Amino acid sequence: MSMSNPILPHVSLIPPYPPGRPIEDVAREFGLEPSAIVKLASNENPLGTAPAATEAIRQCNEKTYRYPDFHNFSLIAALAAYCGLPEDHILPGCGSSELILMIAHGFLNHERQSVYPRYSFASYAGASKAAGSEGIACDVHADWRPDLDALLQAGREERTKVVFLATPNNPTGALTPAADVHALAEALPDDTLLVIDEAYREYLDEADRPDISRLLSSRKHIVILRTFSKIFGLAGARVGYAITHPELLKVLQPMGMPFGVNMVGQQAAAAALGDDEFINRSRQHNAVERVRLCDWLTKAGFEYVPSHGNFVLMKSGDGATVSRELMKRGVIIRPVGNYGLPDWIRVSVGTAEENDTFIEALSQVSNIRTHAN
Ligand code: PLP
Repeated sequence: MSMSNPILPHVSLIPPYPPGRPIEDVAREFGLEPSAIVKLASNENPLGTAPAATEAIRQCNEKTYRYPDFHNFSLIAALAAYCGLPEDHILPGCGSSELILMIAHGFLNHERQSVYPRYSFASYAGASKAAGSEGIACDVHADWRPDLDALLQAGREERTKVVFLATPNNPTGALTPAADVHALAEALPDDTLLVIDEAYREYLDEADRPDISRLLSSRKHIVILRTFSKIFGLAGARVGYAITHPELLKVLQPMGMPFGVNMVGQQAAAAALGDDEFINRSRQHNAVERVRLCDWLTKAGFEYVPSHGNFVLMKSGDGATVSRELMKRGVIIRPVGNYGLPDWIRVSVGTAEENDTFIEALSQVSNIRTHAN
């Protein structure tokens, strides 16, 4: 009897997602106290969770034996009010990660490709592969800004059905000016889906944020992605949302998991939207601490990319080794070798104390490395 492999060929090519290492994991490996570890590896909000969301989470106590609201009614109502759009434009997901996968499965296969700027968020390539497709990375400028002419040219190819653009981008922190995002949306062929990923939108100045109504009115095939994992401090609750046209929303919705947004996530996210005090405080904190971190990097002679997010990409030399040495000292950052940047690391902006701990640990590690060379 001949045994054939029932696994689809493209499935073994899906790259695993490389997450920031969890605190407990690093504590076990290096024999450290979890409470002494500083995690600056996943661009979470160092100030914690929006207090209004924490209260909403408490109220879920003893209710989670029920399924969540299948239709996300309250969350969609809160998001529609927050975005100033009708409710039929809002599609929540289990993090924007689920929405990226839904898009890939809905628009890509082995005859099609997605395109995005080089050094874009890893899930664009991963989701494209998961759909049996290929993601093509386009050039970026010398200052790390995406080259939108290159993106537009690739977006015009017959095979291209999805264009991903994150602004600001992870892991570089590079901004695509709002006017350029509008111009791209107006210039791409109609039969290509443009995905604008705004995971870090709330950290931007108003003037740098694309105009969502203008983007929606400029084209039929467009999705704007947002998340509660960053400034809202709800990474563990797994909630993101897509903004799109009702016709496209109806196509994407069945691609998601039934009950994909859990009860705690729905309630926490809806509450977090109204917590202006927390959001403003988080934005201000990030602006101050990001400058302080970058000033130190400049003085210490490290090259880094000016960032518009809550993280900084910096040249550390051998990122895998530096990451290990930092972990030994109780600091978790993100090596970015998987992005083709083996000499760089990405560090999230933490609390003032966390940033001091990182600075101290990096000084020790780079001293050792300088003397060893
Ligand atoms: N998009 C970008 C640009 C990101 O940096 C991230 C997470 O780091 C995501 C999407 C996914 O976020 P989540 O699935 O937590 O909503």
